[in-house]
Amino acid sequence: MPTILEPGQIEAAASSPPFLHLPPHTLFDLRAQRLEQLAEGHPLADYLRLIAGLCRVQQHVLDNPPLCEPLDLQRIEVCKQHGLPPFAADSLVREDDWQPYLDALLESYPAPSQPAVTDALAALNQASPGQRRAWAVALVSGQFSLVPAALVPFLGAALQTAWSHWLLSTPNLQLKPGDSLSQCPACGSPAMAGVIRNRGKHNGLRYLACSLCACEWHVVRVKCVYCEQSKGLDYLSLEDDRHAANQAPLRAEMCPSCNTYLKLLYLENDAHAEALSADLSSLMLDMRLAQDGYQRLAPNLLLAPGDE
Ligand code: FE
Ligand code: FE
Repeated sequence: MPTILEPGQIEAAASSPPFLHLPPHTLFDLRAQRLEQLAEGHPLADYLRLIAGLCRVQQHVLDNPPLCEPLDLQRIEVCKQHGLPPFAADSLVREDDWQPYLDALLESYPAPSQPAVTDALAALNQASPGQRRAWAVALVSGQFSLVPAALVPFLGAALQTAWSHWLLSTPNLQLKPGDSLSQCPACGSPAMAGVIRNRGKHNGLRYLACSLCACEWHVVRVKCVYCEQSKGLDYLSLEDDRHAANQAPLRAEMCPSCNTYLKLLYLENDAHAEALSADLSSLMLDMRLAQDGYQRLAPNLLLAPGDE
């Protein structure tokens, strides 16, 4: 006998999109390629190329991860049973499982031509594990001012590599939504940006991209991810000669209820766009929104705020 679905079940089935969208194993290479393209003729070309180089080192470490003890699988299970993020950044950063990734990143970094980069790498190399931990705790908790600005991208890159490696090497992740819409279900970190996907089962859906592990999770569109209001949301894009305003691949969703914004990337308007590179190449939009009194709550771990 055929199974007959009740109306409620039909709605549930039709309206439950895949909750997760995991990044590809080549995510850092894709960021590097994109940053190199975006650097062409860009006012911040040198900075974007520097970060592109850093992303290539991240990819190298992800492809050749340091030999270290795997994460405690039992703890991951306990977290999953209690609906907690299995790679909770606020607790894991206080342990030292991520430090070999920083060592690997520093070791793989090609000899830099800029003295400032040489100094930053040397400072991280010479720092004690305790000092590195203190900086990393500050970075993942959004206290960027407690970390020397020049060190932020390199430390942030090492943390991203460790967390993305854990995310991508753990099978059967079944994650539940976090306490807030903007919180990553895998590591509990805040979203960096949103991506409106354009292909297959994710078509037309909004996913938020984690600032730390690059996991993406589904959040309905036209709703502030911070205060959950839908009223009065407005959208702002940079003037861009390649696109009409309503076809801009990057728009900020501004919420008048809590005075915050989140950048959204529309892949239907630029299929090869990628969240981290799009964010770093659109800092003019952040400056404009800051002037208008909107607050940014979405961190980018490769940029110290106020550094632009
Ligand atoms: Fe995450
Ligand atoms: Fe809001």
